Amino acid sequence: MVNDRFIHTKRKHKNKAGKTPEQLDAEKGKFPFTEIHGFKLKEVEWSVPDQKTRKSRRRAFNNVREAFLKHIGETMAPALREMGLTDKEIALVKKGKAPIGYNVHHKLPIHGGGKNEFSNLILMPIGPHDDLHHKVMDPQVAQMQSGETKKVVIPWTDDMVYIDPERKKAAPQKTAFIANALAARNGR
Ligand SMILES: [Zn+2]
Repeated sequence: MVNDRFIHTKRKHKNKAGKTPEQLDAEKGKFPFTEIHGFKLKEVEWSVPDQKTRKSRRRAFNNVREAFLKHIGETMAPALREMGLTDKEIALVKKGKAPIGYNVHHKLPIHGGGKNEFSNLILMPIGPHDDLHHKVMDPQVAQMQSGETKKVVIPWTDDMVYIDPERKKAAPQKTAFIANALAARNGR
């Protein structure tokens, strides 16, 4: 009965809906990590506004996005450079436009009741951005309807400009290297 054993093994890994244990955990807000792309997982109340509110907030976001980009372009150029943007791309941000491959993310999405406030926004590359949605939030909220509320784990940071966690780790070394180079030049 080789076939039966094969079927039995298959069933251990996937349930009837064809979901893996990892997918089922993700739907319950359980993850094998506490941080993703430098964002810390944090539990919040996810409350789906009615469709009209969501629509008008998304429409209003077009202007807020532009104002937000201008703001970070004017006040956070070093962070934008640290993120890997060129001078040309930073000039674009100052004009209120996102460079190709980047977008402005709502840390608490509009679907979860998030607002168009600067503190709820971050400019980040599309790759890690999509991971925040697909790997963390989507599995938990996909079935939620207007007016529903539940506790949801979201990736959170206070930053308004994304810094690759690998670059963050490398930064102290870079600073030390520059300090040493200066000391050497000064003959110390
Ligand atoms: Zn997003």
